[in-house]
Amino acid sequence: MTQSSLPRLQSIAIDGPAGSGKSTLGRALAQRLGFLYFDTGVMYRAVALAALERGLAKDDENAISQLAETLVIEVLPPDAEDGRAYTVRIDSRDVTWALRAPEVEAIVGVVSTYPRVRTALVRQQRRIAQRGAVVMVGRDIGTVVLPEADFKIYLDASPEVRAERRVRELRARNIQADYQAVLANLRQRDYLDTHRADSPLRPAHDAVIVDSTHMDAEDTLDYVWRLLMERAALHFGR
Ligand code: C5P
Repeated sequence: MTQSSLPRLQSIAIDGPAGSGKSTLGRALAQRLGFLYFDTGVMYRAVALAALERGLAKDDENAISQLAETLVIEVLPPDAEDGRAYTVRIDSRDVTWALRAPEVEAIVGVVSTYPRVRTALVRQQRRIAQRGAVVMVGRDIGTVVLPEADFKIYLDASPEVRAERRVRELRARNIQADYQAVLANLRQRDYLDTHRADSPLRPAHDAVIVDSTHMDAEDTLDYVWRLLMERAALHFGR
């Protein structure tokens, strides 16, 4: 099945907590459909990394907001074969892997509670979605960034399973990872993401909620693909 058999499907929103498998699912769906894959988490991570590099305190909301409003974040097709799904540059520097550092994960949850940071990044995300068919992944895509998305998935999994997946990912890249520390960081980010005043993480009222606790990446893709085909048949006459 290709895009030509889904004539009006333009935007797919995937939201959910850290480690739920959103990126893997989003990337696979986009590839199958020939859509752009865009992971909005990298933008929040880029602001967090730039704040660390500039020596800003994580609670300096004004300075971090100004930074988000001026920082040029480029998300480009992958330019290295090292397992990356895209290349991210800030100030023309390749920061694709630096965005995954524990120091970034330690502050990104706080940085993304700042309303001006969100406004600046959401504006860029909407512009990207206007360029064409897209699978956009994040925390507030179905609720705030693309409330008119054609298909919305809210992907969840238990914190323990999400932490196990994250540890496996890190170890596969030869990064030491302690399960308890990873679990604690996920729980902290879950708390911040679901309790912030601006755009908290929650399923959109019209999202399909998928629990991937007992499904691997392939099963999740198969399951969501079937849902998508059913939806396409219902709404787009196929
Ligand atoms: O998805 P990822 O773990 O890369 O996102 C990093 C952080 O960025 C999340 O913990 C969340 O706090 C924030 N984020 C957000 N809104 C999005 C995407 C990510 O607040 N749309």
